[in-house]
Amino acid sequence: MEFAGQVALVTGGSRGIGRAIAVRLAEEGCDIALNYRSATAEAEQVAEQIAKLGRTVELFQGDIADPEVPQQVVSGVRASFGRIDVLVNNAGITRDELLVNQSLKDIEDVLATNLVAPMLTVQAAAPAMLRQRYGRIVNISSSAASKPGRGQSNYAAAKGGLEAFTKAMAVELASRGILVNAVAPGVINTDMTDTIRSHGEDEIMSRLLLKTYAEPETIADAVAYLASPRNTYTTGEVLHIDGGLKMA
Ligand code: NDP
Repeated sequence: MEFAGQVALVTGGSRGIGRAIAVRLAEEGCDIALNYRSATAEAEQVAEQIAKLGRTVELFQGDIADPEVPQQVVSGVRASFGRIDVLVNNAGITRDELLVNQSLKDIEDVLATNLVAPMLTVQAAAPAMLRQRYGRIVNISSSAASKPGRGQSNYAAAKGGLEAFTKAMAVELASRGILVNAVAPGVINTDMTDTIRSHGEDEIMSRLLLKTYAEPETIADAVAYLASPRNTYTTGEVLHIDGGLKMA
């Protein structure tokens, strides 16, 4: 129960990795503010699962890529819970396509969701954390930032930017007890990777040292450590959880 008395905001928490992170933090005693975009039925299921753990949970529906939404969500969290100790910037999208075929919208949507939204959410949440002199921020990056596949230029640029932003925030916020890290997953069993896993299986498996995909709970374990009070000395780090993909 190392998160007892704490509140975490998890963006994109209705499915996949975000859902696993929210449940894992709740299992460790954290109350949860869960943002999602449109999957209300799924988000309600997550809320039910968290409530059964005896934790307080509130849903904050909103497209985090809309520049107005991060501040609205964080204000809602502070109004409901009175504090915010942990921020997990998890919401993310892909629009994989060779650069020559990408539309401006493909580029802008991917950058808005994976890079600008985390920046604006940190900007909104940091003042409360600064006042508390405590905070843990974990940004969900991707192995694509360091080992992009074909067609991932927009996504790789966004996640690479997110990793650089993580380090910049670690520098700015360290003196007030706010630790900022990133987790870079490889290929995880979620809706996002349905197509990659079904069409690129041989190519991916040949690059995966551990020859298997991971479940969202594996990412949640790492996030739970970096987001916890037990983490007192890791900041500005990018933790690769990728079955050895980056070694290939
Ligand atoms: P999924 O597509 O399975 O789930 C995405 C989640 O993010 C959903 O809850 C979705 O909400 C939410 N979301 C997407 N866009 C927005 C938005 N604009 N505003 C609010 N919520 C949004 O993705 P994963 O769980 O696989 O991915 C989670 C994170 O992990 C992403 O940042 C992704 O880039 C990263 N990642 C994933 C990998 C993988 O192998 N799966 C590998 C490397 C990184 P809704 O349900 O309402 O649509």
